[in-house]
Amino acid sequence: MKIALIAHDRKKDSLVEFAIAYKEILSEHELFATGTTGQRISDEVGLKITRFRSGPLGGDQQIGSMIANNDMDMVIFFRDPLTAQPHEPDVTALVRLCDVYHIPLATNMGTAEILLKGLQEGFVDWRLIQERRN
Ligand code: PGA
Repeated sequence: MKIALIAHDRKKDSLVEFAIAYKEILSEHELFATGTTGQRISDEVGLKITRFRSGPLGGDQQIGSMIANNDMDMVIFFRDPLTAQPHEPDVTALVRLCDVYHIPLATNMGTAEILLKGLQEGFVDWRLIQERRN
């Protein structure tokens, strides 16, 4: 599975903690991230991850492009609901594309845990989700 990891600045510590806790399962998948988030996950967690541009410089759109090309399977996006983002339109567009293409999306740690546990335990038939997208 191709999994995108993104966190707004005030949520980056949480995403790093989450990635440490779920390192084993994450390491079995192909990981992608926006620039700064990816740097932190690479440095602090030691996971191999493909980094795009920083979110405000187009990274969210690059991940959106992968979704539109049917080339991304899951998005974990720890959004900061209490801080205005200069690239809010990009954030909205990314969330929208996840809904357009039926991509499992977690915008907080609670949902992200359920998604990764579901992935780990095989609770969800991801092939069905992928087929539905085609
Ligand atoms: P960043 O981008 O990982 O480069 O900080 C995330 C975002 O703010 O969308």
